[in-house]
Amino acid sequence: MSLIVQKYGGTSVGTVERIEAVAEKVVGFRAAGHQVVVVVSAMSGETNRLIDLARAIHDAPDSREMDVLISTGEQVTIALLAIALQKWGCEARSYTGSQVRILTDSAHSKARIEEIDTDRMRADLDAGRVVVVAGFQGVDASGNITTLGRGGSDTTAVALAAALKADECQIYTDVDGVYTTDPRVEPRARRLDRITFEEMLEMASQGSKVLQIRSVEFAGKYKVPLRVLHSFQEGPGTLITLEDDDNMEKPVVSGIAFNRDEAKVTIQGIPDHPGVAYQILGPISEANIEVDVIVQNFAEDGSASLSFTVHRNDLKKAGEVLATVAAQLGAKSTTTDDRIAKLAIVGVGMRSHAGVAAKMFKALADENINIQMISTSEIKVTVVIEEKYLELAVRSLHAAFELEEMDRVE
Ligand code: ADP
Ligand code: ASP
Ligand code: MG
Repeated sequence: MSLIVQKYGGTSVGTVERIEAVAEKVVGFRAAGHQVVVVVSAMSGETNRLIDLARAIHDAPDSREMDVLISTGEQVTIALLAIALQKWGCEARSYTGSQVRILTDSAHSKARIEEIDTDRMRADLDAGRVVVVAGFQGVDASGNITTLGRGGSDTTAVALAAALKADECQIYTDVDGVYTTDPRVEPRARRLDRITFEEMLEMASQGSKVLQIRSVEFAGKYKVPLRVLHSFQEGPGTLITLEDDDNMEKPVVSGIAFNRDEAKVTIQGIPDHPGVAYQILGPISEANIEVDVIVQNFAEDGSASLSFTVHRNDLKKAGEVLATVAAQLGAKSTTTDDRIAKLAIVGVGMRSHAGVAAKMFKALADENINIQMISTSEIKVTVVIEEKYLELAVRSLHAAFELEEMDRVE
């Protein structure tokens, strides 16, 4: 008998009919002799609806109250799923994050899990019950409800699997695995049988929302066997593996990730001497704004300019901070641009291949797409381009790196 943690995402529990279909599927796993813990998301669209309700009242609602509000979506689906399981004659119990005691820090809307009490879940499993747990939420040491960031139910599932030492964590969603890129943008994208944690981490951090980045971090850290599968179609899905043990030649590029959530800010005509970057980015970081790609340029008059990307939600705040800094530094101007997109090619095979970035730049140049910023690491190359070219860029890179061919064995 194995212990499986399964997570069903928003579209998979988006209607009462789908919740019943999920219940039927879980019953099948029980009948096959497995112990099952199920994590569910809110019905698709629900979390956004709740956020909009609060924003209709206040444009900067209190973060503690927001977590009380947006955690309710998952409380609905856990109860409905438990009821559906019971209708099938399957004993089941639902729990909120706080009832399980998924203890987190107090960083509302982006809390980190610190500890999970497994006693209650174990007792239910031993009594033959299916345990249904609300994703995306926890509780801090003072008893306040917290949430784990958008897409956080993935992290709940992986964390529960780690705490319970489950045999596998299965993430059921509306695609049948992890693809070379988002199949909604490139229909010729191919499902990968396996992808390494390292690559999946880069894909997630560069914008592939099929798995929340923290869930991949957790799975890597606690060596949780993780698989992405389709909720309602049979298939092997994609296994997220520790570094491949076979000697197979790796594809240079495994996937393409992209992100439309970022914006660029630039400060021009700043002095070129030590400490200036710190004077600019220090206050940005103090304002709790995360910075991603950074580029510095020099003008012929000896002055410098600095551009960096931030999340679009932080653009206004970043612009305000920068205006103050610009005045202090006597900078010429500051500009903001929210019509950019970030695009990255990812692959562990890049380590042993030169010229990958050049090939990427050529493919973009052939389509006349201007690259505004570049950043690289051992296993990825990221560029910032104008948003309107994003889909064209994804498709041309997908073709240039022959990703639709990659699973074929010659
Ligand atoms: P859920 O609600 O089940 O958590 P998400 O919408 O969060 O589902 O994640 C699944 C979606 O991720 C897919 O519908 C797909 O459009 C998108 N996606 C982005 N990049 C990829 C990728 N590389 N492989 C598969 N899906 C991807
Ligand atoms: N319901 C939450 C969200 O929409 C968490 C999740 O779906 O994983 O972000
Ligand atoms: Mg998701």
